Amino acid sequence: MRVRELKRELLARIDSLDVRIIMRIATGLDDIHQLTEADTSLSDSEVAMARELVERRLSGTPMAYITGEKEFYGLPFRVTKDVLIPRPDTETLVDIVLGYARGYENPRILDLCTGSGAIATALAHSLGIPVAMSDISEKALAIASCNYERNIGAAPDARLGSLFEPWRGERFDIIATNPPYLTQSWYEETDKDVKAEPSLALLGGDEDGLGIIRSIISLSPDYLNEGGVLAIECDYRQTESCARILRNEGFSEIAVAKDAAGKERVVHGTRLS
Ligand code: GLN
Repeated sequence: MRVRELKRELLARIDSLDVRIIMRIATGLDDIHQLTEADTSLSDSEVAMARELVERRLSGTPMAYITGEKEFYGLPFRVTKDVLIPRPDTETLVDIVLGYARGYENPRILDLCTGSGAIATALAHSLGIPVAMSDISEKALAIASCNYERNIGAAPDARLGSLFEPWRGERFDIIATNPPYLTQSWYEETDKDVKAEPSLALLGGDEDGLGIIRSIISLSPDYLNEGGVLAIECDYRQTESCARILRNEGFSEIAVAKDAAGKERVVHGTRLS
């Protein structure tokens, strides 16, 4: 089978950007060579691999899991089915933390529920200082460490455990987190691409999805320096509740930030005493 024939076959099944990427993985031909080598014959194994990847895509595997790569904040991240795929929405959380970090000379920052390590890595890269990370999933933490090391050139302080468990006795100036926050029914409504991601990283617990966020907010004062900031990503339908929980737990200067799509996405507050 020739390049152009395989390409035509795949285009009838999935969208053209995905076809180009799958063709590149299966045949080693980049976008330009897929055109200039359109008459080149492909081996049976190249054709079989391309078809298999298309089947995986059609059965709901996100492209990032097929390529094993996703870009976030201009940096490359390795992703597997053990981590949530970094989303552009979360760049808002990074921006908010960067804003706070500029007020410090050398802030101590923690990325709680780090997943792929995207937030810690983007912050460490932008600020030129180390950023700590932790996660309850051993597999996720291994990927996070590898992403951090690959982009920063040094190993992170990466600790395994539930929420603040690995950080007893330690304090930070800024804690950033994109924890699981979906409700069961939002999760059920999501498309199959999202269902291919780890539910451990998505389901927030409690009727309103805020179970884990509630725990984080109530535990965090013990891990924040005075004047320290907690910045949390959540769904736009949760920002009001999230702000209220922060207020009830004694946080001050509470504010909500919108993501690039104009939806409320990040709630942050300061621990004043
Ligand atoms: N924003 C993600 C989604 O809607 C959820 C991320 C999370 O739960 N932390 O798929």
